Amino acid sequence: MKTDIVIVGCGVSGLYFALNLPRDKKILMITKDEAENSDSFLAQGGICVLRDKDDYDSFFEDTMRAGHYENRKESVDIMIRSSRKVINDLISYGVDFEKENGELAYTKEGAHTKNRILFHKDETGKEITKNLLKAVKKLDNVTLKEHSTMVDIIENDGECAGIVYRDEKGKYKAVYADYTMLATGGIGGLYKHSTNFPHLTGDALAIAIKHGVKLKNIDYIQIHPTTLYTKKKKNGRDFLISESVRGEGAILLNDKGERFVNELLPRDVVANAIFEEMAKTDAKHVWLSLAPIPKEEIESHFPNICAKCLEEGYDATKEPIPVVPAQHYFMGGIYVDKYSKTSMDRLYASGETACNGVHGKNRLASNSLLESLVFAKRAANRITKTYTEAVHTNKKIDFSVYDGCEEEYRKTVLDAIEREKKKHE
Ligand SMILES: Cc1cc2nc3c(=O)[nH]c(=O)nc-3n(C[C@H](O)[C@H](O)[C@H](O)COP(=O)(O)OP(=O)(O)OC[C@H]3O[C@@H](n4cnc5c(N)ncnc54)[C@H](O)[C@@H]3O)c2cc1C
Repeated sequence: MKTDIVIVGCGVSGLYFALNLPRDKKILMITKDEAENSDSFLAQGGICVLRDKDDYDSFFEDTMRAGHYENRKESVDIMIRSSRKVINDLISYGVDFEKENGELAYTKEGAHTKNRILFHKDETGKEITKNLLKAVKKLDNVTLKEHSTMVDIIENDGECAGIVYRDEKGKYKAVYADYTMLATGGIGGLYKHSTNFPHLTGDALAIAIKHGVKLKNIDYIQIHPTTLYTKKKKNGRDFLISESVRGEGAILLNDKGERFVNELLPRDVVANAIFEEMAKTDAKHVWLSLAPIPKEEIESHFPNICAKCLEEGYDATKEPIPVVPAQHYFMGGIYVDKYSKTSMDRLYASGETACNGVHGKNRLASNSLLESLVFAKRAANRITKTYTEAVHTNKKIDFSVYDGCEEEYRKTVLDAIEREKKKHE
């Protein structure tokens, strides 16, 4: 099969990339699960935006400080300066951000010195992604295939010439394309405790390793300080209690009801403080009290979280809820330049799977939806401007080598993370 552009993954990154490509290009988009099952749908807290030019320095500094100053400054600058345009674009696709007196309302999360986060209740990701998905489904030039898993890229003369995937019936198919976009999200599915969908197992990373595509900082993995502690985990993932709950005033307590950390410090610092506190008494969790937040505010801003807590037997408006840290986000990934191009020609990567250096060692809350969108659009613009057709060969592909490759890929990625960790020690 031949298409112009193939996109692997239909979270915000893959979808926005497709929307920014020329309409005369034939696009195939595949996703491992159902289209709605991406981490983009799970994002709760919100999306950052540069409120006005006076906020530039503080937005830049907050992002750098959270990232331990290991961020690529050029990428941070691009993300911040592009943010307003992207938000206006989202609004034009029908995304409904919270308003106050007719103006956009801004909230705050940990490590932000100012309120600069737009949100839609506690389901910002769903609101953004469902509108982008609706827009993509209207495009005649895009074919979306669900339950289709990329198992390899096709390499031709050192360039990427498409992908191999397994379709919903278990049949392998080769798709030749002029350009390939890897928008495959994070790696939470490799961990026992994670807020991510379990099918996000870093396949693109394993494939990149196999083809010698450059990776960066793949041991930079964010642990979120607060997921709901439960003995009966559903859907294979841990339920996130968004940082914006702490941003609005919620406090962390130990078993004795004492505060032990400034809740608005960067995520890695808060998560470490919780681990230390749990270790002192061998506790399985700590507590998050929403008592400082007015009841009406809790119910209107966090309806999804309240409902989930009630399911577990906790009324978040009346009592503290048990929370525990879990794997949440992947700062490292496939190394890309400022146009989201990987080290292999005709191969692009964006979103959580890519590393353009925006997040440094630790992501600032609500920067990832923004980063995914900004750099997906840059890739689309770059490809549009420099489009050339690839030379394709009809090399015979032995599909049998892909049977059971997932297990091998998991091991490849976990081993590579361990090796990178040792390098950083
Ligand atoms: C619970 C939770 C809350 C969050 N809250 C926020 C927030 O408030 N603000 C914020 O900015 N960020 C938040 N994030 C992070 C943010 O949601 C993600 O970083 C972002 O959505 C990533 O988008 P993406 O397009 O890169 O990947 P995803 O949305 O994860 O999409 C990945 C896609 O790739 C597909 N895929 C993967 N492997 C393959 C394969 N081998 N073959 C075919 N398809 C494949 C998947 O099926 C999926 O369609 C949150 C994340 C979680 C988990």
